[in-house]
Amino acid sequence: TVAIDNQLLPSVRNFLGQPKRLLIGGDWVDPAAGETFPTVDPATGGVLCQVPRGRAIDIDRAVHAARVAFETGPWTTMRPNERERLLWRIADAITARADEFAQIESLDNGKPASIAKVSDVARTADLFRYYAGWATKLEGSTVNVSMTRVPDGEFHAYTLREAIGVCGQIIPWNFPMLMAAFKLAPALAAGNTVVLKPAEQTPLTALLLGEVFLDAGLPPGVVNIITGFGDAGAALAAHDDVDKIAFTGSTEVGRKIVDAAKGNLKKVSLELGGKSPNIVFADADLDKAVPGSVNAWLSNQGQACVAGTRLFVEDSIFDEFTRAVAEHVARTKIGPGLDPDTQMGPLVSQEQLDRVTGYIDQGIADGARVLTGGKRWGTEGYFVEPTVLVDVHPDFSVVREEIFGPVVAAMPFSAADGVDEVIAHANDTIYGLAAGVWTTDLSNAHRVAKRIKAGSVWVNQYNASDLALPFGGYKQSGWGRELGADGIALYTQVKAVNIAL
Ligand code: ADP
Repeated sequence: TVAIDNQLLPSVRNFLGQPKRLLIGGDWVDPAAGETFPTVDPATGGVLCQVPRGRAIDIDRAVHAARVAFETGPWTTMRPNERERLLWRIADAITARADEFAQIESLDNGKPASIAKVSDVARTADLFRYYAGWATKLEGSTVNVSMTRVPDGEFHAYTLREAIGVCGQIIPWNFPMLMAAFKLAPALAAGNTVVLKPAEQTPLTALLLGEVFLDAGLPPGVVNIITGFGDAGAALAAHDDVDKIAFTGSTEVGRKIVDAAKGNLKKVSLELGGKSPNIVFADADLDKAVPGSVNAWLSNQGQACVAGTRLFVEDSIFDEFTRAVAEHVARTKIGPGLDPDTQMGPLVSQEQLDRVTGYIDQGIADGARVLTGGKRWGTEGYFVEPTVLVDVHPDFSVVREEIFGPVVAAMPFSAADGVDEVIAHANDTIYGLAAGVWTTDLSNAHRVAKRIKAGSVWVNQYNASDLALPFGGYKQSGWGRELGADGIALYTQVKAVNIAL
């Protein structure tokens, strides 16, 4: 049932063979109702193993454990430099087990293990190290207060930056391990406790992270991991004893999170969908812009919220450029993630395969022309050919909606009257997560960067983000910014102390 079974590490074989449990209060426990669900290898559709199905009652147990850990220590009374060392230990353990993490991520999600190792796993470890440093650098400030009226007199005021408390974190399946790290690392650095709900399609690396946390000596209840479906996520978002909910996933579910969080007005941060523009001017360095523009939408099998799936190419180079893009992607080596030669793996699930091929079919029915790709690849597993569509209209669903698969819609634009035309098209979306611009004209680059309504703009590259840079969405792509200093701000709250002297 596992693609390329002979490539499996003994530790991975062993992990897959072990019974899986929920992590609550420092113990691996069975879900209250004893239910399980299968997680599958998207390269074959075969079952990898059974995973516990946590329900609202398990979320409640986990929230209680996180509350006890937050209120009674030792976590919240631990010195920041001890928290820092603990996070480094976690990072080192992840690095030491990088091959194991990469294989499990590949098996569960489909992505090539070789890429998972240097990208997902390496960045996860980097994130724990980056935020480890923040543990000792959280500061308030002293404030000159001159407008305190009652009582009259002299005052001394300062701010404290404190943990928020119990944080619920709900993550998607496209970068299972990295999304866990995006959320856990800053939350832990700031001294919060967490209940993590991984995506039902990809629960495995989160469970392996749980092992790493216990081995590293993270106190009981600081991180609790509940595998399960949307009902478990909904219970977490609605729970009255959760102080903050962080969510990454679809805009549709993001709206439900906001609704569910209303009861106790818990803090909410959201990282949602995108339909990002990638703009190529005729003066761009095309040797870089062609592979870079492919990476923009094909990276991670196209299952990336930042994917540059609306490719705007200046009209004078449109035919030449799109042909070069099509030729480049047609060479992509497709196969199971554990095959070391694989550049592109399967999509995560049958549902995703159906959704993506459905969008391609709709695009063709609407009148789009396929330059390359256009259908399912092979007969086993959830593979789709990388697909380049041209002759598209701004109203087509392939241009408007997030497909979350290896599909790009390319459109020409005129720059004869400056950047207004392409900016108008690029911003014609409900989303605002990311954008790319390729040009050797410095003024053009800055002009576009300024006028694009998106949280990240990449110039002469696409996807190279940095853990120190804020990441998040304009418009319906989200609330708040993860990573960098903003990421710490999401997991802390500020208290103002004003003292009458
Ligand atoms: P995608 O569309 O990319 O599969 P979703 O937004 O559906 O992503 O799911 C992202 C995460 O949100 C998953 O962990 C999923 O289980 C969870 N989820 C789904 N529905 C809900 C909900 N109503 N409330 C909270 N979490 C949910």
